[in-house]
Amino acid sequence: MDIGGTKVAGALVDSDGAMTATTRRPTPRGADGDTVFAAVAEVVAELAQSPLWASAVRCGIGSAGPVDTARGTVSPVNIGAWRGFPVQARVEAELARHGARIPTVLAGDGVAMTAAEHWLGAARGHANALCMVVSTGVGGGLVLNNQLHPGPTGNAGHIGHISVAFDGEPCACGGRGCVESLASGTAIAAWALAQGWVPAGDATAAGVAAAAAAGDPVALAAFDRAGRALAAAIAATATLVETDIAVIGGGVAACGDTLFGPVRAHLASYATLSFVKDLQVVPAMLGTHAGLIGAAAAATMLLRS
Ligand SMILES: [Zn+2]
Repeated sequence: MDIGGTKVAGALVDSDGAMTATTRRPTPRGADGDTVFAAVAEVVAELAQSPLWASAVRCGIGSAGPVDTARGTVSPVNIGAWRGFPVQARVEAELARHGARIPTVLAGDGVAMTAAEHWLGAARGHANALCMVVSTGVGGGLVLNNQLHPGPTGNAGHIGHISVAFDGEPCACGGRGCVESLASGTAIAAWALAQGWVPAGDATAAGVAAAAAAGDPVALAAFDRAGRALAAAIAATATLVETDIAVIGGGVAACGDTLFGPVRAHLASYATLSFVKDLQVVPAMLGTHAGLIGAAAAATMLLRS
């Protein structure tokens, strides 16, 4: 299951990562918590029609955060009706209603994406990896010693809210100089506009990326600043736990070298010790399916025994 602010998706995923019986519903807007959950229940009911349903052995639930995997609850920023919502217990009840009494695992979307990239994507074969999503916000997750490392409440790897500028601007989280406040799509667009960038229509980070690709100096500076923030955070992570690869996905990463160029250029200034000099930064590979594949991968990695 992949639950986000715009859609609820579900799939049966086999042991090779092939998806069958994929289905989705729009996430109800302005609805109460039970109405939002009804979309999840419909997805489960539709999957249960598959002839493969009876062979399901575990269920991964990826959700927009914040999540609290210790309690099985979620409070997604973009699903206002769910605050401390017991999604894991509710999904388990729904699975049982359709005859599937199977173990479940809840994972935040950054951790799920990390599991997906380690299983089938760009971090495959890397025992220690940082994976991150750079879109309207910045999220992430860690693989350490070939194990997914979600932490006690599922929030480890929350790289968007580590500080890379200790005297920096206040962040919505209450901190200062957070990566997200410098490198998210929202931050890139806001900074470019504040510096006098005049959008030719699209005023989002995608518009800034297009302008940067066309040589606009303010747009280039906006991506340089974002890339530098990401480079500092990636280098700090690698220095702390010896990750040897950073995988970046999400809407902002889709602009390719406009983002990866500055990240790689600045990395040399921050990843300086011998054991992090070979640190690679690469694009994510799984794109739109990362959420569903990631939920399945997280279930496999965390319910392995
Ligand atoms: Zn923050």
